[in-house]
Amino acid sequence: MSAALPTYEDVVRASEILAGAAHRTPVLVSSTANARTGAQVFFKCENFQRMGAFKFRGGYNAIAQLTPEQRAAGVVTFSSGNHAQAIALASRELGVRATIIMPHDAPAAKRAATEGYGGQVVTYDRYQDDREAVARRIQQETGATLIPPYDHRDVIAGQGTAAKELFDDVGPLDALFVCLGGGGLLAGSILSAKALSPDCEVYGVEPEAGNDGQQSLRKGEIVRIPAPKSLADGAVTTHLGQLTFPIIQQGVKDIVTVTDDQLVDTMKFFAERMKMVVEPTGCLSTAAVLQQIVAVPGKRVGVIISGGNVDLAQYGRLLAG
Ligand SMILES: *Cc1c(COP(=O)(O)O)cnc(C)c1O
Repeated sequence: MSAALPTYEDVVRASEILAGAAHRTPVLVSSTANARTGAQVFFKCENFQRMGAFKFRGGYNAIAQLTPEQRAAGVVTFSSGNHAQAIALASRELGVRATIIMPHDAPAAKRAATEGYGGQVVTYDRYQDDREAVARRIQQETGATLIPPYDHRDVIAGQGTAAKELFDDVGPLDALFVCLGGGGLLAGSILSAKALSPDCEVYGVEPEAGNDGQQSLRKGEIVRIPAPKSLADGAVTTHLGQLTFPIIQQGVKDIVTVTDDQLVDTMKFFAERMKMVVEPTGCLSTAAVLQQIVAVPGKRVGVIISGGNVDLAQYGRLLAG
């Protein structure tokens, strides 16, 4: 038995919940990008979302829909990345206690950012402890609700509001490019595309080193891979989810991959041409378009820039290289 899949109605409800809580991020254009691709490209800038990535949408939507009893018992999640910050910030806004489980060697800046938003960080030894067991123990002790990073109905619906806003702002598109890790953003985007621009071809974009989504699509079942190594640290998940996979399988045109070098080129493009700081994972979707991994001449194309949280020292090194 599988849990009910989210629908576009859930995305509409999420967009009502998020109104006034999340930023309605801008849609930007670039004549350089248009010239390089021969297309009309619309960039949905979730790097300008609160806490710097689209994940605030899903996290806030999920916590907002908890019952008063559940809210009183708090929430728990495991992440050292943007989901941790999203849950910490959304919890603070909604007056809910958040426990974030992170590996003991998580970057100090990520831990500090999460604590800065009011999240309580609990660490585990990633070589010895099972993080899911740590989460279960906290759930049992406190009654907290686990909010996973992608495989959750309200999380997926929340992520789908970014694409909804894009279609609401610019109208129907011929193609939409969305990066994927666990597939929450892609699945949510598919729900919005099918409802608002039914002829739009939706492409998923993954790091070449972590192409479990592409393999899963080819094989027709969820393929698990060893933890991949890529600059795109927000997309190095090992497998798609039970909820995200069926939506992606049904709705995606294809899943393509880009290399780390192509991500760095794209990061430079954003800095130089569009004056934007975009994290490596946030460059995936644009890289597929600018490097013409999928050719889109003459088309109206949407691209979701997923986030802008990058360590500044690493950013400097990558831009200078
Ligand atoms: C989490 C994240 C992703 C991947 O999102 P999924 O919903 O897991 O596919 C992509 N980009 C950024 C910036 C992220 O934080």
